[in-house]
Amino acid sequence: MSQSPISTKIDFDKPGMQWGTLNIPFSYNLSGWAQLQIPIATIAQGEGPTVLLMAGNHGDEYPGQIAIMKLMKSLKTENISGRIIFIPAINIPAAKAATRLSPLDGKNLNRCFPGNADGTASDIMAHYLTTEIFPRVDVVIDLHTGGRGVYFYPCAHMHLVDDLEQRRRMALATRAYNTDFSFLYADIAGKGLLPVEAENMGKTVVTTEMGGGEVTSAPVHRLSQDGLNNVLIHLKVLAGEEKSRADLGLPPTRWIQALDAEDYIFAPESGLFESFVDVGTDVSEGQPLGALYFLERPDRDPTIIQANSDGIAIAHRAPTLTSQGDILFCLAHDVEEAVLKTFE
Ligand SMILES: [Zn+2]
Repeated sequence: MSQSPISTKIDFDKPGMQWGTLNIPFSYNLSGWAQLQIPIATIAQGEGPTVLLMAGNHGDEYPGQIAIMKLMKSLKTENISGRIIFIPAINIPAAKAATRLSPLDGKNLNRCFPGNADGTASDIMAHYLTTEIFPRVDVVIDLHTGGRGVYFYPCAHMHLVDDLEQRRRMALATRAYNTDFSFLYADIAGKGLLPVEAENMGKTVVTTEMGGGEVTSAPVHRLSQDGLNNVLIHLKVLAGEEKSRADLGLPPTRWIQALDAEDYIFAPESGLFESFVDVGTDVSEGQPLGALYFLERPDRDPTIIQANSDGIAIAHRAPTLTSQGDILFCLAHDVEEAVLKTFE
């Protein structure tokens, strides 16, 4: 495979704070010799883990982007043990356009891994992370929300990786986000995900689904920022005292999972979607969760969407206008005791 065309003035081995950009050459109609400039910064001091902290993998998922921008301005080198690489908006063209997919090539960056140095901007970015960034880091923190399409009960989440030592590292870091639910998820929409690429390299991977839809509430911003700070303290890259949920006066996190294809309920036809349940609610099999109404056929009975098992409605569709095949609900279930034991 070819060498990455990305250039940067950042020296990843240098101590202290550095601000820069990752530059991808490209052309468009008003500029034959253009650069896509993706802001990046590093802060480093002494011995400790190297953490990649990134958001905007999907452009329209903003709370993590704000959390990282605030953090990178506030951290002092003397509080760091190791290194943090900040990329607040990795898919900056999509973030500027408020889209999930890159407007440059129409691709979902989170399906482009391991990437291709000879491909489009998204392929080149994925390839650079895979070949230049991931090999340098111990931890990958990739902050998401449900985007405009899905509203999640704000939670940290992770894959249930097979390697038990890696699983334990990931579970402890995920738990340090101090969210009400900690969610084990499955990949139901294709391959080539960033976290999977990093997991396959043995990294500790921490990801979130901080709400979603167009609105981000103040509590979601607070949770995004406080949780991130606590995870960095847990990882020992940032000085401070780790707080547990008990320290915050909260009950333990509830570990839940949606690992079967049936846990993801899709729209059987197009219509206007109404959810009957709030995210985070316990539901029982057969319970009506929501309905689809038909603009052109108000005489038709709505199509009722029922729970196909007992569970927790961890997410539902955000926009009302719905096309056939859109995700409507994600139903999660409590994680078995035997699996929970592997987290400790
Ligand atoms: Zn996302």
